[in-house]
This record gives sequence, C-alpha cells and structure tokens, in this order.
Amino acid sequence: MRRPPFLVAFSGLLLAALAPACSGPTDQTPEEPIIVIEDDPVKDTDADAGADATPDTDTTPPPSGEVDGEACQSDRDCRSGFCAPEPDWPGGYCTTIDCNSRADCQSDGQNNACLLPGRGSNFCVRMCTSTSECREGYICMGISNSEGYCAPNPAPPFDGMGEDFPFEVTCTPAPEGRADLRFNVSEGLHSFTVVPFVESGYRLGPNSVTANEDGTSFNLRQGNSFQAAGAQLFGFINPTIIPAVPQDVSKVRSGEHTYRLATNAGEICHYVLERPTRGNTIDLNIYLVGLGGKGLTAHNAHNHNDLQEVLGHVEDTYSQAGITLGQVRYFAVDAESEAAYQVVRSETDVARLAMLTEPPGTDADSVLSANLILVKSFSFTGAEGVLGISMGIPGAPALHGSGISGVALTGAYIGTESSWGSNPLDGNEFTASIIAHELGHFLGLFHTTETTGSSFDPLADTERCTDLGSSNPTYCPDWGNMMFPLADVRNTEISAGQAHTMGVNPLIK
Ligand SMILES: [Zn+2]
Repeated sequence: MRRPPFLVAFSGLLLAALAPACSGPTDQTPEEPIIVIEDDPVKDTDADAGADATPDTDTTPPPSGEVDGEACQSDRDCRSGFCAPEPDWPGGYCTTIDCNSRADCQSDGQNNACLLPGRGSNFCVRMCTSTSECREGYICMGISNSEGYCAPNPAPPFDGMGEDFPFEVTCTPAPEGRADLRFNVSEGLHSFTVVPFVESGYRLGPNSVTANEDGTSFNLRQGNSFQAAGAQLFGFINPTIIPAVPQDVSKVRSGEHTYRLATNAGEICHYVLERPTRGNTIDLNIYLVGLGGKGLTAHNAHNHNDLQEVLGHVEDTYSQAGITLGQVRYFAVDAESEAAYQVVRSETDVARLAMLTEPPGTDADSVLSANLILVKSFSFTGAEGVLGISMGIPGAPALHGSGISGVALTGAYIGTESSWGSNPLDGNEFTASIIAHELGHFLGLFHTTETTGSSFDPLADTERCTDLGSSNPTYCPDWGNMMFPLADVRNTEISAGQAHTMGVNPLIK
C-alpha cells in the first residue's frame, strides 16, 4: 500500500538525552533518524543482485510530469505518479515512495535523494544547502553538516500579530525584493529588540542593522550571522536583540536605525521593544498537556509539590544570571488537542501546541511572558533522546498563538525517581535542567558546542568541545554548562556572557 510520507521535521534546537541530539540553526541537525540513502554497492549481495542491475521495467513510471521535489496538484502531474498533497506539503510535492537509493528518485539532473524518515515509507526529496534553494513554504532541514532537504516549514501559517497586540507595528513596502526598515532607539537603553516579520510563509533574508548617525552596523550575514537564526529556522521572522553578546555593548547607539532585509513578500512589518534597564524576572505561562496521570493540572499546579520543586530548581539555576521567576500562570488546552499532542512526535506537533497559546492579557507587561508547554512525553520520530524543543534562538518576544510561540518539553520525569546509567536520577531536578536549557534557547542562547562538534556559540567566555561525539561527553570542557547540548542534571552553569544574553532579552523584566 502506498502511503503519503509523514511530515518529518527536525530543524534543531532540540535537547536530547545522552544520544544524538540538538543542534543550532546555523548548521542544522545531524539527526540520525533522517537518513539519505546513498547507493551502496555492498548492499546488493544477495542472490538476485544480478537481477537488480537491470531496471525493473514493469514499475518504471511514464517519462512525463514533474520530477521529485517539484510542486504538483495531482498525482498525474508527477513523473513518479505520486503527489504529496497540501496542506502538509505546501503547493504539493512530487515524490517517489518506497525508494531504496538515490537512483530510484525522479531527478533529471536535480539533486534528489531517498530519505528514510524514521517512520512511514521511504520517499524521495530535493536536497539543499540553504533555505533559499527551497520553494516558498519549505525550509532546508539539515541532515548533515553541509546538506539538508527541502521540507515543509513546520511553523506556518502565520497571519500577523492580531488586533490586540500592544506594540506598534510598522509595515514597509519591499519593492524589488528588499526593504529598509527604519526605527528610532531611545537614549541610554540597556537593550532594544527589533522583530521584523512577513505573513503567509514568505521568507526574510536579514542583512544588517545600522545606526544612521554614525554608521555603526551589525552585519547579520557575517560577523553577527548568529542573529539570523530566526529567519534560517522559520523564514518569516527574525527577532533581533542588540546588544546580543557582551562584545556588542559598546556598539549600542540611539536615534534612527535602518534594518535592511531581503524578501519576496510585498512588505515587511516590524515592532520594536526597548529596555531602559536590565530586568531580573521572567513571567511564565505554563501549559500542562496530558499530565493528569501525575495528578498535575492547570487547577492544582500552584499547589503541586513536584512541579513547584521543579520550578524551584529552575530558579536556583537562573539565580546565577540574576533572574527569578515572576508571575507564573497555568493553562490547559482543549481536550481534543490534549489527546492529539500530549505525546509530541515531531516539530509540527510542537507548532500545533504553540498555536494554542494565548496572550495572558492585552497590556504590554502581560504579553511579555514566555510560554512553557509541558507534555506527557516526547517520542520524536526515530529520535527517542529528544526531550525538548525551543521555537527560536531567541524566540519572538510578545508573540503568542503562533507556531513558534514558546518551548515544549517532556513532563515525563516530573515526580519520578529513576536511574541514569549507574546514577540515581531525580526527575524533578532533571526536568528543571531541561526547562532551564530550553528557556535559555528562547532567550537567545545557543549550545556551547553544537552536536556537529564544529560550531559553537558566539560568546567569548564559554568553553568548546572540539571532539564531541568521539569521546565521553563528560570530558568536554563545556560539560556542566546549562547549554551543553546533552541533558544532565549536572549541566546547570551559566557564564557571565550567557547571563548577559539572557538579560538583554525583553522577556527579562
Ligand atoms: Zn538545546
């Protein structure tokens, strides 16, 4: 039986247990479950290897129609005879199901390959090295250090900020694929945040932020390319905080600024958030999804001993950055969504949950709060080690109800005592370490070392592990840091540079 391919989405920001894990947005994930099957001469060693050398003419599709990876409206449009349909595959996606190697894909010279998605059937995909090579509605999902495939963007649709949004949104025409957003920055600020965005799946190409008076500039394509993570991951939005790292403090200016971006959308909108001083609290909206089995609901959460112990551990960790928990609100989701998403299997599930979040009020203070979604369990397709995911580095502050509005992580360890190898594992402490890590991403922190082992955070005072993967990770010099890519209750340290990055985020009030 022919089945449509599952929408498999891995775009990084994952926190995993001691297993293949997280990665940052710049190099995408080397996630193991998604494997491009190359032609393997060793494979055909069974008795009928000779027969395999001859194409099976019975199943050869007619040589007309689009090759794999192209848009389609019906099966007839595709040379493979199969069109993966909308809405999961925007614009349709021709593909060959049950492929075994690259040679099975309809390609005509295009760089197509056979994907083993971890569940469901193998299918052919269009390979890419960056999102700009993919059609609208798709992003380049990494599967190795250098290459990925064009996969549906898990985060859309996005239709703007809503009528009650308490910050002024300015929209600027983008003729000829480019726009210069202009905004004013008050004097003497601790930090400011600009959030450019477009609607309906178009992509942004962040270029630079420049102070007009003296030309002081942040290059988002080179020196500060880490500040293009939002656009790389999700396309349509790029929260940009200045000064994101301590070395940028001296470059903060007031007065008119220009933010230059490329896009195919007709206009780019933006809003600006200013912080006169560094804050010291973060407000949380905690969504509890499928944790009734632990006696944990939105109604009793504030009296639930285990959850409160978890939050106490998070506060202990964040106290290193001078941050305490402020107002903590608890929410449930509707029963249908709870049943559908309490076990999170993909980034798309996270996006669906994030779309259920709501601003806890309409005033500026209320919307500047972070959504933390605790679910019954994580069972990422083919990647059992994944424990949590943050929708952004940093996430979009003040944005609720979109597919990128928050972090989600497993609540399975709350209130448990188990073991981790030969060591006892305090489930509340472990959960707290995952929360601290994912919220760290949402506030703007990268992994100290990405799981590729070849890229690192932009901070000067965090250690790097240059042989991650080839040795015991506990020997890494950055083991112990909260943003080490593998989860452990011992990974709780926050450097001064990391504390800076967290403190400039407008969610820290
Ligand atoms: Zn992570």
